[in-house]
Amino acid sequence: MEYKENINFRKETLIKLLNSVINHENEIIQALYEDFKKPDFEAVLTETNYVISELKYTINHIAKWAKPKRVMPSILNFPSTDYIYTEPYGKVLIIAPWNYPFQLAFSPLIAAVAAGNQVVLKPSELTPNTSKIIAEIIQKTFHINHVEVVEGGVDVTQKLLEQRWDYIFFTGSIAVGKIVAKAAAENLTPVTLELGGKSPCIIDETANLKLSAKRIVWGKFINAGQTCIAPDYILIQKDMKSHFVNYLKEEISKAYGENPEQSPDYARIINPKNWQRLVTMIDPQKVIFGGQSDAASCYIAPTLIAEDSLESLVMKTEIFGPLLPILTYENETDIATVINSFEKPLALYVFTDNKKFAQKIIQNYSFGGGCINDTVVHFSNSRLPFGGVGHSGIGAYHGRLSFDTFSHKKGIVKKANWLDLPMRYAPYKDKLASIKKLLKWL
Ligand code: NAD
Repeated sequence: MEYKENINFRKETLIKLLNSVINHENEIIQALYEDFKKPDFEAVLTETNYVISELKYTINHIAKWAKPKRVMPSILNFPSTDYIYTEPYGKVLIIAPWNYPFQLAFSPLIAAVAAGNQVVLKPSELTPNTSKIIAEIIQKTFHINHVEVVEGGVDVTQKLLEQRWDYIFFTGSIAVGKIVAKAAAENLTPVTLELGGKSPCIIDETANLKLSAKRIVWGKFINAGQTCIAPDYILIQKDMKSHFVNYLKEEISKAYGENPEQSPDYARIINPKNWQRLVTMIDPQKVIFGGQSDAASCYIAPTLIAEDSLESLVMKTEIFGPLLPILTYENETDIATVINSFEKPLALYVFTDNKKFAQKIIQNYSFGGGCINDTVVHFSNSRLPFGGVGHSGIGAYHGRLSFDTFSHKKGIVKKANWLDLPMRYAPYKDKLASIKKLLKWL
């Protein structure tokens, strides 16, 4: 149980993990490519380098985070010194998705280990090559009683959920999130649910259209749109639409060339099932750019869709692929109608030069997190909480908050013995008036 009691042991294990990730970086990048042709640049930026930075940040801060924190005591307890102690939950289950299969498995794992827990990690079965290298790194770094990787499909996840855990950290779809929450409720197990949703991207008439198009194309088509916080749809002021669509087309061509299928910088859809789901969403009548696809290689081109209905297939559920519907609004009531017709999203983006408009959007709508004049990048600041609200998730993590997520906080009053005020003790006769006066004064 050294991992529980000894902070230095936890730190040394994380250093060992850091070295192992660095040593296996090329294999991880290769596995991600084999799984769904993730471009090496994206693999470094969003997977290996992200994990390496998170490891370094945690290693540098673990001693401070784990130390009991002294807080102001209550005058009612005078004389005392008060502390918050952190305690590992115990046995933690981490269930990871396939879209950022390395990062979304390792990021919670690092925090769970830093906080002193015993971990079982279940990587996604849809990225078998990455799952294999994850298992290899973990086996080399940890004792099996400390961290264990359990590979396998849905049946394996179901079996794991039948067991009793002290904490469950799940990243994935809303539908499976509900299954996890139900299983956890059986034992009143606390959970973090990192889920998804339809994340809007609102563009008003003051926005810098060219730059907005560039940033939206990057955030939408990175990982071929299979990013939980990718803009799901555009909601643009009606008069700006045609101008903006031209910029979008220009930016897509600049990023991925005239034929994105040939681009080394464009990933594939994870599997035939998801490819089929996405292709079914494309209404050829509404395609204004892209629309090409190839079943054999699970390819779908970056596709722009002129959308005017919330009833169409592409607007019914989270897209999670390279299809970008563009809707228009005339006034703020239209914006409210669209956004309020969906559950609270994981992200929201607003592109504008109007500070008041941006503030209004941020304050009027409930969503996990987001950006003003950019997409996706709020994920990269470890000082910002990352998580959803309502159907997009429960709880948040990153940086210090990740450590806190996997720690129970114990409030402790250390009472001194040199003084013992008699007021609180029975019999209470004749004390009520004085205690009222004292409480009023406090
Ligand atoms: P998923 O929910 O299908 O799978 C996630 C995990 O759940 C896998 O390990 C799988 O084995 C397990 N699972 C699948 N079906 C199950 C079942 N019936 N019972 C028990 N376990 C089951 O999700 P996914 O397809 O891997 O990922 C896509 C979804 O995840 C999207 O909705 C996306 O928005 C969301 N996501 C959210 C975040 C975030 O940080 N909030 C990050 C990535 C992905």
